[in-house]
Amino acid sequence: MILIAVSKTFEADAVLPVLRAGQRHFGENRVQEAADKWPSLKAQFPDSVLHLIGGLQTNKVKQAVALFDVIHTIDRPKLARALAKEFTEQNRHLPCYIQVNIGEEDQKGGVALDDLAALIGLCRDELELNLVGLMCIPPAGVDPSPYFALLAKLAKDHHLPQLSMGMSSDFEVAVELGATCVRVGSAIFGQRH
Ligand SMILES: *Cc1c(COP(=O)(O)O)cnc(C)c1O
Repeated sequence: MILIAVSKTFEADAVLPVLRAGQRHFGENRVQEAADKWPSLKAQFPDSVLHLIGGLQTNKVKQAVALFDVIHTIDRPKLARALAKEFTEQNRHLPCYIQVNIGEEDQKGGVALDDLAALIGLCRDELELNLVGLMCIPPAGVDPSPYFALLAKLAKDHHLPQLSMGMSSDFEVAVELGATCVRVGSAIFGQRH
């Protein structure tokens, strides 16, 4: 079980005590914010591991591959292809997750359930990405259990070992349902403004 401390919106000053306490996995959702904050933190803590947990635009792929260590948000073929090209370019073959729009919500990121199998096939077989698992953010305000259970089933069906699911409000449930990595922000850093 990996605990990702989600440090988005918090300055380096707030992240440092958490690094000093021994936490090593961190999550950021924006490439530019991470690029401003993390190079100096990584210089001080070279064994820290930075996870991209927000949507990625193809024009930021080069910067993202240089900066991050794990990508959680592959959601479309164009992005998968751009990442594959850049991994080769930089000789950095980062572990990747596909983000699934598990509640089939219009405004949510992630690949549609109907398109998941094809995207897994593209990433794993054609592009030979280091695809390790699936990631989701369940719909807000309802019991997340069925969504976590569905993500776990999809990962199992496709022989993907890792499950990135669970946030401050629901990580206990996510762990019970098989999460291998939880992404916890406000429960560690406090409320975001
Ligand atoms: C912000 C964020 C989190 C952390 O949310 P909290 O509720 O503060 O724990 C987890 N995952 C993603 C994708 C996020 O954007």
